[in-house]
Amino acid sequence: MKKGLKAFSLIMAALLTLTMGAALAEDTLTMGTNAEFPPFEFVDGDAVVGVDAEIAAEIAKDLGLKLVIENMAFDSVIPALVSGQIDIGVAAMTVKPERLNSVDFSNTYYNARQACIVRKDGKVTDEETLKGTAIGVQNGTTGDYAAEGYSETVERYGKALDAVLELAGGKLDAVIVDAPVAQNIIDALNNDNLILLDNIEFEDEFYAVAVAKGKPELVESINKTIDRITEDGTLDAILLKYFPVADDAE
Ligand code: GLN
Repeated sequence: MKKGLKAFSLIMAALLTLTMGAALAEDTLTMGTNAEFPPFEFVDGDAVVGVDAEIAAEIAKDLGLKLVIENMAFDSVIPALVSGQIDIGVAAMTVKPERLNSVDFSNTYYNARQACIVRKDGKVTDEETLKGTAIGVQNGTTGDYAAEGYSETVERYGKALDAVLELAGGKLDAVIVDAPVAQNIIDALNNDNLILLDNIEFEDEFYAVAVAKGKPELVESINKTIDRITEDGTLDAILLKYFPVADDAE
């Protein structure tokens, strides 16, 4: 019995070393994200780029580590942190009380809200007409939770773009997704029939970097980087690079 226990703890210790080794391998900082969320993260050629990739590069630079990006489903990011597969989750992730049960968050770096995309010729025009309709979302996101408040028919997709394509094709009545991404997708599809409703008040949401629990030094270091890039203008420059300023903006 005793022997069995000892062997068990040895195996557990070996497994722990292995999993920690995977995430903390040689001078790298591994970021998990879902690169289907432009302009925060998207694939360009072979690379994952976007606002979050650049913020993570600043975090890695300050830590003296090389940034490695792992592309995964959005709802895999928190489990990957918990299992030690990745070091940081940077995925336009909103700080939510439920998520704080599993991971810690850095200070916040962006204020977003949800937005509701509909077809101009569709039946949804406001909060009232949204109720009970077929709403598309990205699985496990705050848009998913918001949609549940309006309808029992919530269709979940791996990427918001697929939901918007279904909306454009008439299979859905609305899509709820983070506002900056909603605008980005509408612009990219260049479809005049897709519009954002401006009469639904969604709550403020704040994005932060997620870290496995019990790593206060890492959170501290990330916070220092967020403070630095906020103060020295780097964050504004990153945002300007990825958010086109309208030609007619005054
Ligand atoms: N901000 C949303 C959330 O945290 C969506 C994030 C995403 O899909 N990458 O749930």
